[in-house]
Amino acid sequence: MKKYKYLFGPVPSRRFGRSLGIDLLPHKTCCLDCIFCQLGRTEFKTIIRKEYVPVDAVLDELKAWLKADGETDYITLSGSGEPTLHTKFGDVLGFLQTISKPSVLLTNGTMLTIPEVRDAASRADIVKVSLSAWDQHSFQVVNRPHDQLNFEKIMEGLLDFRSQFKGEIWLEVFLLYGINSMPKDVEKIAALVKKIQPDRIQLNTVTRPPAEDFAGALLKNQMTELADLFQPTAEVINEYNSTHAGHQQVKEDNILDMLKRRPCTSEQIAAAFGLHTHEVAKYLGKLLHEKLIFTVHRKTEIYYTVRDTNK
Ligand code: SF4
Repeated sequence: MKKYKYLFGPVPSRRFGRSLGIDLLPHKTCCLDCIFCQLGRTEFKTIIRKEYVPVDAVLDELKAWLKADGETDYITLSGSGEPTLHTKFGDVLGFLQTISKPSVLLTNGTMLTIPEVRDAASRADIVKVSLSAWDQHSFQVVNRPHDQLNFEKIMEGLLDFRSQFKGEIWLEVFLLYGINSMPKDVEKIAALVKKIQPDRIQLNTVTRPPAEDFAGALLKNQMTELADLFQPTAEVINEYNSTHAGHQQVKEDNILDMLKRRPCTSEQIAAAFGLHTHEVAKYLGKLLHEKLIFTVHRKTEIYYTVRDTNK
């Protein structure tokens, strides 16, 4: 894939197979600062909505990508923060409606209190929203929101969105050991989720380096037991496993672009680019030698990242 400024991947996604990402924000701009965020701590915590990057330039890149590459399972608005903070994210979704790939909006849902945001988000095929708290206090502990955000109002926004949106809502609950994973607390989250009536409920936990070291993972069997507290039973997200890697010409730049967005294992990189892990090891070895990337150890896995976390 040639070098793009606002597009990245296609990257392996545990939820969406191979997903071309569109990044509408400078790193890292969000209205939350979740303790589990795989992008690190929020640098610009804001609720100000504006055209953070020129939408015309994003659409020009998308058109160029469609001509030159064009192979992906989904096109996803995600990237360096909360995409609904961009005032024209709906224009991008509108453009995606004119092509044949399904579009996904990844959002923390906090801006769905605004009718204009709900209208724009309704242009996506799938809206994947996260909910990992049950009241204002737990919201502050887990998601460290901008101080003008109110949990009850956000819940009202989610319910309003559910009643107007005809596409699929996938709701992700991110569980953290000893923080929001006590059954009595998960039951409270499950009660809120039931009201929203999402099409899919997905439980996730820490599998990539989180913003805070104290954001610990749950074991698979703990996740499976907690999944039963949801109605219907929630899916426990498995690690990405590609069965249809494309034939892209990989360059070190592509790998670097991917790692700028999030840390990945060599297997994930191999799956994204349709390469054998031995070939990936060659690229990673060179990038490590040049100190352009670094390793982070998490349990038995090694992740590659562009940030040196050992300093
Ligand atoms: S996990 Fe998502 S919502 Fe939370 S801080 Fe990171 S980008 Fe923002």
